[in-house]
Amino acid sequence: MRAQPKASHFIDGAYVEDAAGKAFESRYAATGEVIAKLHSATPAIIDQAMASAVRAQQEWASWLPVERARVLRRAADIIRVRNEALSELETLDTGKAIQETLVADASSGADSLEWFSAQAASLSGESVPLGNAFAYTVREPLGVCVGIGAWNYPTQIACWKAAPALACGNAMVFKPSEMTPLCALKLAEIFIEAGAPKGLFNVVQGFGDVGAALATHKDTAKVSLTGSVPTGGKVYAAAASGMRHVTMELGGKSPLVVFEDADLEDAIGGAMLGNFYSTGQICSNGTRVFVQKSILEKFLTRLAERTKAIRLGDPLDPDTHLGPLISEGQREKVMGYIEKGKAEGARLVIGGGVPGGEAFANGSYIEPTVFADVTDDMTIAREEIFGPVMSVLAFDTEDEVIERANGTEFGLAAGLFTKDISRAHRVAGRLAAGICWINTYNLTPVEIPFGGVKHSGFGRENGRAAMEFYSQVKTVHVALGGVDSPY
Ligand code: NAD
Repeated sequence: MRAQPKASHFIDGAYVEDAAGKAFESRYAATGEVIAKLHSATPAIIDQAMASAVRAQQEWASWLPVERARVLRRAADIIRVRNEALSELETLDTGKAIQETLVADASSGADSLEWFSAQAASLSGESVPLGNAFAYTVREPLGVCVGIGAWNYPTQIACWKAAPALACGNAMVFKPSEMTPLCALKLAEIFIEAGAPKGLFNVVQGFGDVGAALATHKDTAKVSLTGSVPTGGKVYAAAASGMRHVTMELGGKSPLVVFEDADLEDAIGGAMLGNFYSTGQICSNGTRVFVQKSILEKFLTRLAERTKAIRLGDPLDPDTHLGPLISEGQREKVMGYIEKGKAEGARLVIGGGVPGGEAFANGSYIEPTVFADVTDDMTIAREEIFGPVMSVLAFDTEDEVIERANGTEFGLAAGLFTKDISRAHRVAGRLAAGICWINTYNLTPVEIPFGGVKHSGFGRENGRAAMEFYSQVKTVHVALGGVDSPY
């Protein structure tokens, strides 16, 4: 098996196996080949991981900030040196094209560790003068944070959670998605090589039941989940039982608005990246593309031309643009939405099927698909599909499109294309989303906060904002005179 790890879990600086845990397989989505066999964590493994993290956190929190920063920075450097091997593993784990993973996965994880290493070294509070007293605040770590990942960006998700958590002086126990168990193990190895205390970043495998056990473990101070809205509801509720902190990075059905004065090629490029990158398996995708009526047919004609040129194929071939979906189950789900789109009256512009031929026979491939004449009430305009399916909706006026764009329970992201600078900021201000892109789409550099509003989540990853979600404020009040007591 070409990606078999030494053991399923990584705890206290070493690989650990417990064959009593439920066995499961990891498959390469492009061929269906089994690339690793693993075991889900038993309660004993979970306790071992948590106890080791508690120990490591106490040691880590006593280090100088600059010493912690150095470990994160070294980990970033190691990731960059190994980018090629890590990207190949990411491609095997997810089926995403190597063209993408070489530039968007381990490398963005390294950016995150590098940037948060600087935050680790500069974390400070404030001083508040109070006349005959003063107060100061310190940001303290929470303790052991649990990270639970989705399957679309296994390395990036692990790094986006670990970097701010560790920078604030916490330890992390991370559970990858059962669909993509491999990449986080490599990150755990790298932290040890970078000089982290054993147990600072442990990885345990498993399904939702393992996630649930971690979320309610007595030693868990915080849960950070990347996943769907229904899972978010369960994890948020479970965490609340122990008054634990949470970050919820959940799903979306984000609007991308194209006004008639937009640069058409840029708008189409943004819409394609925001629907087809990672074979459409991105939470912040702009899957409801609202196009102003006067440019609609021109937009659709050019969009179809450019979509036709997308190369599907072997994800390990550097010329391939799109690999398969994560699994056969996901393909069935996406095909179900395509059928619903047709049945409910949307116009299929391009795609909509499964590519034929030997090269695609065993993988969960699907054609990049565009629907036009989509209306707000159609299932494909309301539910998160998580596949390469773009819905194009027509609109007339600015007020109308804002109301329709906001008419969803989700609020992760939004985008708009226009050359009118006043309109750009006006509309960005009125779109209900955690992040809004103007004249681009889906860029998430580590420097800027990322996260959702409404059902799309709570808390922020990246940017200085993330530090607030992995630390708590302590206030110290200092008297400068005597105690003035009437008693
Ligand atoms: P999912 O909700 O099925 O699973 C996410 C993780 O939660 C997995 O590791 C799973 O094992 C675990 N889990 C499931 N039930 C649990 C429970 N009861 N308690 C604790 N953990 C549990 O999501 P998925 O299918 O892996 O990923 C796709 C979803 O993730 C999409 O909705 C997508 O939008 C979302 N996502 C969001 C972001 C973001 O940053 N906002 C990023 C990527 C993916």
